[in-house]
This record gives sequence, C-alpha cells and structure tokens, in this order.
Amino acid sequence: MLKLSYELSKISGFPPRFANLLKKLKILTVKDMLWHFPFRYEDFSSVVKIADLKLHESATISGLVKRIATRRSWRRNIFIVEALVADETGTIKAIWFNQPYITKSLQPGRLINFAGKVAFSNEELILSNPTFELINNEAEVKHTAGLIPIYPETKGLTSKGLRYLTKIILKNIEPLKEFLPAEVLKKNNLPELTSAFRNIHFPKSIEQADQAKKRFAFDDLFLLQLNNLKIKMALAKEKAPALNIDQSYLDGIIKDLPFELTKSQSVSLKEIIGNLATAKPMNRLLQGDVGSGKTVVAAIAALITAKNDKQTAFMAPTEVLARQHYQTLIKIFGKLSVGIGILTGSESRSFYGEGLEAKVSRPKLLKEIEDGNIKIIVGTHAIISGGKDRKPVQFKDLALAIVDEQHRFGVEQRAALVKQEIHPGEETTIHFLSMSATPIPRTLSLTLFGDLDLSIIDELPIGRKAIITKVVAPENRKKAYEFVSQQIKAGRQAFVICPRIQAAEENEETKLDDRRKLWLEIKNVTEEYEKLSKQIFPNFRVAMLHGKMKSSEKAKIMTEFSTSQIDILVSTSVVEVGVDVPNAAIMMIEGADRFGLAQLYQFRGRVGRGEHQSFCLLFTDSSSQSTQQRLNALLKAKNGFELAEEDLKLRGPGQFIGSKQTGIPDLAMKSLNNIELIKTARESALGIIKKDPELKPYPVLRVALAQFQEKIHLE
Ligand code: ADP
Ligand code: MG
Repeated sequence: MLKLSYELSKISGFPPRFANLLKKLKILTVKDMLWHFPFRYEDFSSVVKIADLKLHESATISGLVKRIATRRSWRRNIFIVEALVADETGTIKAIWFNQPYITKSLQPGRLINFAGKVAFSNEELILSNPTFELINNEAEVKHTAGLIPIYPETKGLTSKGLRYLTKIILKNIEPLKEFLPAEVLKKNNLPELTSAFRNIHFPKSIEQADQAKKRFAFDDLFLLQLNNLKIKMALAKEKAPALNIDQSYLDGIIKDLPFELTKSQSVSLKEIIGNLATAKPMNRLLQGDVGSGKTVVAAIAALITAKNDKQTAFMAPTEVLARQHYQTLIKIFGKLSVGIGILTGSESRSFYGEGLEAKVSRPKLLKEIEDGNIKIIVGTHAIISGGKDRKPVQFKDLALAIVDEQHRFGVEQRAALVKQEIHPGEETTIHFLSMSATPIPRTLSLTLFGDLDLSIIDELPIGRKAIITKVVAPENRKKAYEFVSQQIKAGRQAFVICPRIQAAEENEETKLDDRRKLWLEIKNVTEEYEKLSKQIFPNFRVAMLHGKMKSSEKAKIMTEFSTSQIDILVSTSVVEVGVDVPNAAIMMIEGADRFGLAQLYQFRGRVGRGEHQSFCLLFTDSSSQSTQQRLNALLKAKNGFELAEEDLKLRGPGQFIGSKQTGIPDLAMKSLNNIELIKTARESALGIIKKDPELKPYPVLRVALAQFQEKIHLE
C-alpha cells in the first residue's frame, strides 16, 4: 500500500526515469501525483454525426467551426458565445453562457470535438455549454477509445505516460481518509474522496468527471472559508483597546471639513467608529470607488485614536502616496495640532501644528514616535513590518493600523499584519482598517477577504462631473493631441500612461522575468517621453515617472506635478493608485488593451477630481472584438463595482486578480465564477465551525485544514 507521503523516487519498482521527469512537473510524492489533474478528457468512443443527435442526450461530435460570435443577453445580463459547427451530415449551434473568453480558443476552420448535452432552443437543437478539444492529430484520435484524461505534460512525459503512472498509483494507494464531514458531502451531493480521485482521472462519463472536479473545487473553497472563519473567530476573541468616542470632538471635526461627507462616507465612518469603541479588534475593509473619499474617513478614525492618546500607523503602498496622505492630513486637519509624522526610506518629517512642520532626522522621529508625541505615523508598510535592514518602528501605544490600497499588500502580508504582535507580552492587539479602490465583486471579496467586515462607499461626492471617455482610433491620434494641447493651454494638466509590458503568451516558460519587464517598461516610458517632449508638445513642460527612479526624484516630480509646474506626466503604472491632482483633467492611456478593466478604471480615476471637465483617451491598435468589448464596458460602467463584475465575466477570475496575489489554489480559482458553489461552501463551513470552532469532532478535517493553511502560506 502506498502512502500519500511516499516519495515517488523512493518507491521500489517505480521507474526512476519517470520519477525524474515528474520532478519537472513538481510531482514528487504520491500525493502530488494524485493531485495532478487532467485538464480535459478526450472522448472519441462515441462520436456521433450531427444529423443523428437526439434531444436531451449527451453526445460527442467532431466538426469544423464555421463561425463564432459573442452576444449579450440584456434581459438576463449575461454573455452568450455561439459557434456554428458543421460535419458532413449537417450543422448545429454550440452555446456557452458567461464564458466570453471561449471565442479566443475556438477559431473558425479548426477541427474540434465537442461533448455536451443536446438541448432545444429557439426552435432548433443546440449543444449547451459543451466541453471541447482541438484535434491536432486525427490518426491518433481513431486509435483511442473511451474517456481519456489529458494532463499538463512535460518534455519526455506525455499524457499517455502520466495515465500509465497514475493508474499504478491509484491501484496501490492506501485507503484515503475522507476529511469532508459526511453531512457536508451529503448536503452538497459530492462524491467521497477515493471515488472522486478515481473519477477525476478515469471517469466513465463527463458528468462523473464534472462531479469529481466540483468536489475538489469545493474542497478548496470550503477550506478557504473555514480558514477565513477561523481567523475571524480567533480575532473576535482577542482584545483591542476600546476607544472613548468624544462625540462633540467628532462633530467638530466633521463640521470643520471643507466639504460635507457623503451619505456612504458617514455610514462607513459610523461602522468604523462602532468598531473602535468596542474592545474587540476591528478587521474591516473599506471599499470605495476611486475618488470616493476614503482617506478622510480613515483620517477621522486616526484622529479619534489620537484623541484617546493612542497611535495610528497609516500605511500606503508607495512613498509617493504616503507623502500625499501626510500632506492631506496636514492640510485638512492641521488646525487640530495633532502630532503627525511621515517616515519613509527617503524622508522623515514631523508636524505639530500650523507653522510647525519640519524635516527631522530619522532617529529623532523614531524617538518622537516611541515617546508617543507623534500620534499618526504615515509611511509604507515598512513602518510596521520593517524592511531591508530596518527594524519595525517602536510605538508607544499603537491602537490602529490603516492600510491603503490593500490589494497591493497581498493576503499573506495582511494576515501577518493582523497577527503582528504589536505589544509583546500583552493580551491586546490592534484595530485594523484596510482600504481598497479596486472594487471587488461580492463573491470574490467573500472568498478572498471572508475574514474581513466590509464597509462600502458607493457614491462620489456631489458635483463631480462624469469623465468623458473615448477610444481613439490610430487615425485620430493627431486630433487627440491637438485637443490635449488646447486643454493644457487652458491651464489643465495631463497624464500619459505607457503600455504594460507582457509576453505574447504568459506561462511559466515564456514569462518575462520581472527585471526584464521593468527594463522594457522604462525603455518605453523614455521613448514616449522623448517623443512627446521633443516632437509633439515641445512647448509644454513634460516629465516622466517610472519605478526605477530614486524615490527622492519621484517625489520631486510628483510635487512639481501637483503644484502645476509640469504639464504632462508620462508614466508607467506607478501612478495607478491613489494619486490626487485635481487640476489634472486628461488621462491618456497608450496600449489600453494591455490593461485589465479594473486597472484602466483606476487610471481614469486619477482625473475628474476637481471642478474641471475631465477626459480619458484610450489609445489602442487592437481592433479585436474582445478589446472593443472590454473598452466599451469601461465607457458604459456606472461605477467600479459594476465594472468589476463585468471584468470578472469577460476575463474569468484568474485574470481578474492574479492567483499569485491571492494564494488561492487553481481549481478554486476557476470556480470563483461559480457563485452557487462559493455560497454553499461558505454555508457548509459556517455550519461546521459553529458546532465547534476547534473542529474537535472532525479530526481528519482539522489535519486537512492545517495542511491547507500551510499551503496558502507557502504560495
Ligand atoms: P479615494 O477614495 O480614491 O482615496 P480620496 O480620499 O483621495 O479618494 O478623495 C478624493 C478627493 O475628494 C480628495 O481631494 C478629497 O479631499 C475629496 N473629498 C473627499 N470627500 C469629499 C466630499 N464628501 N465632498 C467633496 N470632496 C471630497
Ligand atoms: Mg486613496
């Protein structure tokens, strides 16, 4: 009997040649081998002619794609891909719902196998949501029979070899312990572990394979939810300082603001303050569209904390943004004379009241923080987690951590921050508020941030003018430049974002390493800068910004841009998050097709922040349908959340939010579109954890969860 933990290379009789090849696929143990799932199946045993298809039957056909198109059903608000498939006996439509990316894989003229259920729609037979496979080698096809698993392969080891090895392993494996509680299996109608493994590798039917896949996707989602809920429950047991809320002080702050808070700002602030007032640590995500005014809400929380003589760490993803927050705090709340400091790799300054702002030495600032004179410390996350040869800052009494644009931080860092032992030896932890302008569809945020409470700002301050967004065709470039020129003459400023660098098809092997990408990006920005400053806009003040510049240099340019000493700023995506320059009214995005919708949305949000009518010009050379579709979505979307839903539909979750960033396993990632599965996984997890947060009645599940946590930790 083989144990899951056995190393393949040490199993006597296991061909050493294979063991070496398997290493390339990161398959080292019996367990890895079982978890190396087929990504599709070939089923040529029962290829049926189109003319012979029967309603309600599952069937495989083999045919040529004649044409393929995506349309949108407005009534049901979904995308529908329709392909017309033909063999020598006739044609049939194949239809997929909400998987617009399929158009990319199915090109007209290719011979393809489709397997799916025959349904009836609009007076004709159709294949509904069929799985499909491109046929490369017809001769091979004729010699296969039954459902054949096709695996991710490596040089020297084909699916055939992998099938052979997997069969041996499955035959000799020890009985596997089921870790999903029986009630969960039953309720969700899932196959039990051992048969799920057999069925995912060697299914008798596509349905059987689908059930097995569902089971494994469920496993990950379920464990993810358990993990989230456990963190949440553990945190709820911890203590954080209960702050005293001085209502008249709070009212005063709000009254003195240069504007009136929007309704959702007020609601969010209430929710946050409600948390701060209790002895349980806050763990909240403040989500709000770009420009919706999250900073001021967070700042008020920091001021309440200061009023309690406690400290706040206010963290931004970049030094540029940290500086901006520091300046905003001083500008809006300077009258309150609360000690505020900024501490980044390149600067240390302190503020104690109007006229009392100065550059100070790093050690002096650190001392001021340690003594508790500085109440609000602005910086990057290095202030709390330390950095290259830097220790974390010593606080006198840290009570609140605010993290801006937290999606940049990644799940792991966030978890580490929450868990951080801020007061060693003491029982208390801190309140935690993260902010994100990337609107994340509800299903995703439940999955990714299920351990967080959510506050949402879903309206912009009144009086903001809608940004006019246009896709500029290559032949209209000159006109666009003329327009920009007029705008600048009228006193406005402009951003130019250079295209993202990416390999034609990014996978493990072709992935450009980050350094090379960065280098190419800099080359791009430099060229664009040269072109604009010398040829197109020689009379304007043009500057550039990219990630390789020294932070002091970046700071200088950002300051010059925000004080209108620069007209046009050519930049990489460095400016993506948070930068606030109200006089900038034009956002030009080169290579717009290379950015995700969420990112384009972020860029656009850099303008339209002041009283001026703003414009977003999207340049693209791509006239492909999917580009048009995506850019159109940006033109139409009313708010970021709507756009995020759209992006999720159009590109699928893997693209929407990089899996590296989320630490979510592959299969679970693929099922993030499956709202039902996420919901049931969450409900099941809740049911189990409510019975016993320690999972004592479920020892096998406990082990599985521990292993899962280790896995996300490593990724
Ligand atoms: P984001 O949510 O993208 O971080 P900011 O906090 O940077 O947005 O706010 C964008 C701009 O809107 C800032 O200049 C801020 O001062 C301003 N602002 C915030 N709240 C309001 C409001 N209620 N009314 C008018 N302007 C506001
Ligand atoms: Mg912001």
